[in-house]
Amino acid sequence: MLEPRDVIIVALSGGKDSVALLQILWKLERRFPPARLVALTVDEGISGYRNEAIAISREICGALNIGHVVVTFDELFGLTMDDVASRRNELQPCSYCGVLRRKALNEGARRLRATKVATAHNLDDEGQTALLNVMHGDTERILSVPNKTEGRFIPRVKPLAEVPERETTLYAYATDTPFQSIPCPYGNEALRGDIRVMLNRLELKHPGLKYTICKSVDKLSQSINATRRSRILRACSACGDPTPNDECQACKMLKALKPNPSRTCQSTSLKTA
Ligand code: SF4
Ligand code: ZN
Repeated sequence: MLEPRDVIIVALSGGKDSVALLQILWKLERRFPPARLVALTVDEGISGYRNEAIAISREICGALNIGHVVVTFDELFGLTMDDVASRRNELQPCSYCGVLRRKALNEGARRLRATKVATAHNLDDEGQTALLNVMHGDTERILSVPNKTEGRFIPRVKPLAEVPERETTLYAYATDTPFQSIPCPYGNEALRGDIRVMLNRLELKHPGLKYTICKSVDKLSQSINATRRSRILRACSACGDPTPNDECQACKMLKALKPNPSRTCQSTSLKTA
């Protein structure tokens, strides 16, 4: 996943998974002096929620002496998740938040000249996403590995993708690491939450099922990729990010949310803390 000279951006939300990932990569990175590690937190603008996470992230980065950068939806897109959630939209808040956060992470990583972006998705997240993609018939997401990419693309890695959530939680407790305790006020609305509960119940009765689901979707993806013609991600006509379509999903969403935008995605340089 990682090379000895990588500039690795760790997506640090302040939750148990991302703080565990940051600590593990910090330990590994010390054995590879040419590699660089920087933590990047996306502030979606959710009052009473994100502030705690940012404070915890700062504390951990300070203790480990790792540079820490925060990018905000407000600065990048001219709106916050509180703005989005206060309107009557076609989709639920998490659908906008997920797409815009991915874009914010890309933008932050690009400014920091990252060669890899490490996210802390665990086995539970991957299992939930696999089922969500199947439920939505989202073939583009099921086929997560493009054959060819044009546009501004920084490879992503998920070092904890085969680690169950219970184990990342145990790691955070065992290492006495602080992590965010407050749940997001918009989280309950998501279908993902229902799938999470269902998968946890099933896993209790059928241990190993989460792993089996992830592997099954991987196999499905590989066999479809092997039979169809090469899949190309091209540069979004509006922002340049890679997309299978003419325009990326984030730009489409921003247009719907802000019909007359004063800005779509600001490009400025960043300094690490
Ligand atoms: Fe965003 Fe939904 Fe996660 Fe809240 S629960 S941070 S709205 S994706
Ligand atoms: Zn775009």
